Amino acid sequence: MTTIEGLFGAGDAVGGTPHAFSSGSFTEGRLAAKAACKYIDDGKAEGIVVSDEQINRRKVEIYKPLEHYRVYRNAIVAGSVNPHYINPKQGLDRLQKLMDEYCGGVTVNYMTNEKLLHIGLKKLKIMEEDLESLAAEDIHELLRAWELKHRHRAAECVTQHTLFRKETRWPGYYYRGDAMKLDDENWHVLTVSRRDPKTGEYTMEKAPCYHLVSGDE
Ligand SMILES: Cc1cc2nc3c(=O)[nH]c(=O)nc-3n(C[C@H](O)[C@H](O)[C@H](O)COP(=O)(O)OP(=O)(O)OC[C@H]3O[C@@H](n4cnc5c(N)ncnc54)[C@H](O)[C@@H]3O)c2cc1C
Repeated sequence: MTTIEGLFGAGDAVGGTPHAFSSGSFTEGRLAAKAACKYIDDGKAEGIVVSDEQINRRKVEIYKPLEHYRVYRNAIVAGSVNPHYINPKQGLDRLQKLMDEYCGGVTVNYMTNEKLLHIGLKKLKIMEEDLESLAAEDIHELLRAWELKHRHRAAECVTQHTLFRKETRWPGYYYRGDAMKLDDENWHVLTVSRRDPKTGEYTMEKAPCYHLVSGDE
């Protein structure tokens, strides 16, 4: 179960760790599904009520990019350029470039540092405001629009975690240019984040990393 009561997750949906690749993901899926069934059998889900008002609010939010397109589509100035909105492809290109340059992508030789990460977070915040003006011309683009929004949030989490971990643990994935060494004394841990949905603020913490199989076996 995630930190949201009654919401179960597994695999990539609950965060990437080196042991949650394909086999880890489906093993977690089995564990999560069993735990969810037990939760229901034990009657713990009975108190969870989703109101019509909640569903309708979510519906408006989900379909908003289609509505935004319908209202503003006549304001296109050339091709797909419109001063009132961005489409998912334009947003994806922007996110890709932003993460590449500030969060240790290929064009910067996988190298980042504290200053770049802070700038990246600032730019992600500005982008989040612009994502309110996302437009989708059909159902397929609506799917792409939501992929982009979710990717943007995942990118923000990745940037926060990269900022928190002041060392270079997996050279080749990315390097912290301002902390180039592996630092087992301080960072032989998992990192856990929590985002406050109201303020968007993150709290970060270290969690112990237990080795189920010891190195000398
Ligand atoms: C480039 C790359 C290389 C990798 N190489 C390896 C490797 O060599 N070995 C290894 O073990 N692991 C590898 N991995 C990691 C591994 O692929 C993933 O950890 C694993 O597939 C995650 O499984 P999952 O079921 O959690 O997520 P996914 O496989 O991503 O499944 C999620 C599914 O949900 C669907 N979905 C999303 N939104 C909705 C929605 N709203 N409604 C319905 N469906 C939806 C998606 O289409 C997708 O099919 C690699 C990953 C990448 C990206």
